[in-house]
Amino acid sequence: MAKAKVATVWLEACAGCHMSFLDIDERLADLIEKVDILYSPVVDGKEIPQVDVGVIDGALGNEEEVHLAKEMRERCKILVGWGDCAVFGGINCMRNFLPPEKVLEEAYTDTKSTVNPGKIIPGEDLPALLPKAIPIDHVVKCDVYIPGCPPDADTILWVFQEILEGRVPKVPANMMRYD
Ligand code: SF4
Repeated sequence: MAKAKVATVWLEACAGCHMSFLDIDERLADLIEKVDILYSPVVDGKEIPQVDVGVIDGALGNEEEVHLAKEMRERCKILVGWGDCAVFGGINCMRNFLPPEKVLEEAYTDTKSTVNPGKIIPGEDLPALLPKAIPIDHVVKCDVYIPGCPPDADTILWVFQEILEGRVPKVPANMMRYD
């Protein structure tokens, strides 16, 4: 049987969700017998190919992330939202109480640890911030949701196994993790 083609992207997020994927540990060896990861932070892919399964980790917080999410939707038969940031917006939404200009000021000039005497805020070289950080399904249709911060490695593996068996899984409550 041909291997399933997989792409994963890491948008507005920390490394936790992809680290949880690696926590599948030695069972990764079995999974890799059945899937080809063609594009991901953990492999050296240059552009998102057409794949069977796409995984988005992270919320949408800027225009580049919206572009990547749309590209993933176009190129992935099944799209998985992976982690609380992708599913709900997650910790990124803490900035939603401030306008984007204030967020940039906080990030580049106002924090106690920042040394920026010229108060320079990068402008056109950075993708423009969206007014708020949002879950991915505010922009693209998502087929499978894996909440959790991060989702448990067992849950991630179970979702892959279900998809490889030809099912589009709905993660049961007892497999969700919010710690
Ligand atoms: S859901 Fe949690 S672990 Fe995953 S990217 Fe967001 S903050 Fe990190």
